[in-house]
Amino acid sequence: MTYDYLIIGAGLFGSVTSYCLFRSGKKCLLIDKRPHIGGNVYTESINGINVHKYGAHIFHTSNRRVWDFVNSFVEFNRYTNSPVANYKGKLYNLPFNMNTFYQMWGVTTPEEAAERIEKQRKESGIVNPKNLEEQAISLIGKDIYYTLIKGYTEKQWGRKATELPAFIIKRLPVRFTFDNNYFNDKYQGIPIGGYTALIEKMLEGVEVRLGTDYLGDKSYFDSIADKVIYTGEIDRYFDYCFGHLEYRTVRFETELLEGVANFQGNAVVNYTDADTPYTRIIEHKHFEFGQQPDTVISREYSAEWKPGDEPYYPVNDERNSTLYRRYKELADAQDKVVFGGRLAEYKYYDMHQVIESAWKQVDKLLHTSYNE
Ligand code: UDP
Repeated sequence: MTYDYLIIGAGLFGSVTSYCLFRSGKKCLLIDKRPHIGGNVYTESINGINVHKYGAHIFHTSNRRVWDFVNSFVEFNRYTNSPVANYKGKLYNLPFNMNTFYQMWGVTTPEEAAERIEKQRKESGIVNPKNLEEQAISLIGKDIYYTLIKGYTEKQWGRKATELPAFIIKRLPVRFTFDNNYFNDKYQGIPIGGYTALIEKMLEGVEVRLGTDYLGDKSYFDSIADKVIYTGEIDRYFDYCFGHLEYRTVRFETELLEGVANFQGNAVVNYTDADTPYTRIIEHKHFEFGQQPDTVISREYSAEWKPGDEPYYPVNDERNSTLYRRYKELADAQDKVVFGGRLAEYKYYDMHQVIESAWKQVDKLLHTSYNE
């Protein structure tokens, strides 16, 4: 065998496993069908601005080891995600906090805000929330649900909020302080110079082949390595034998606005009404406090994935979860191949969780306990 490990996919999971295995003295080959490394965290410089080509990525974690790990490659800045929501021309702060409650109801104290929410919660009569809509209303009340959640969620997922799992909304904090930080984690920031620089550093010394499709020549690739780490779509690996898993894809309409130094004053503005066709506008320079004379913006349009599109979000509803379990059984029965990452585990992972999961996988492979 030429290689100990063949890693399929140079996204975060593939890059972290490659780094760890290479550092442990294993002979690794990392391949990716795209012409670049980084998977969906890939950033590309346009007029000096690092553009998040496959959607905004904001790093956050409470795990000190994960934070130290990413900072060992490149320095991170102090960016704190504070998205603004635009509902029919009116602006609200996110996540749901005292600023939002003031903008929504004019209330100025935590007590008044809590009373409002409690009243709406009682009126709704929801005791055991069964879906995203019920979860949201019982968490935050109907005013915020109809203004800031329903339209955005249904655009993003292309499904009724009543048909979506409650856990999606549990990602968002609710706070009775004037704190617009979207995340509760201890550490947060953006790699200075972009994510591509971070992945490049991580892969120093690792043999990488780009523009190379594993499944297009699977038997050859399987013959050159002892073990395979696969990070692509799990259903594609098994040739969709049980049918397609559903994904949401995102289409980005990216524009360079020359001579516009500041388009929207914030990196992320969500459009939470049902009529605006895009879900949000990202102004990339603000992730790195850019002072360039120009700006680059991306409008995000969410759509149902079809073959040929990039898969972004797994749709973890009943049907897909059941289907995934069937694929997972097949995956677990493979000796030579292990599956990991957002697409291979069909899981709505954040970046820090991908790193932790990659470490766990490496521990299993090497019989170490690096992650404990
Ligand atoms: N969400 C919402 N309104 C917003 C932002 C988010 O209702 O303005 C809900 C929506 O259901 C979404 C979920 O929160 O799917 C998670 O959003 P997040 O911004 O964390 O998703 P990501 O950045 O991963 O696309």
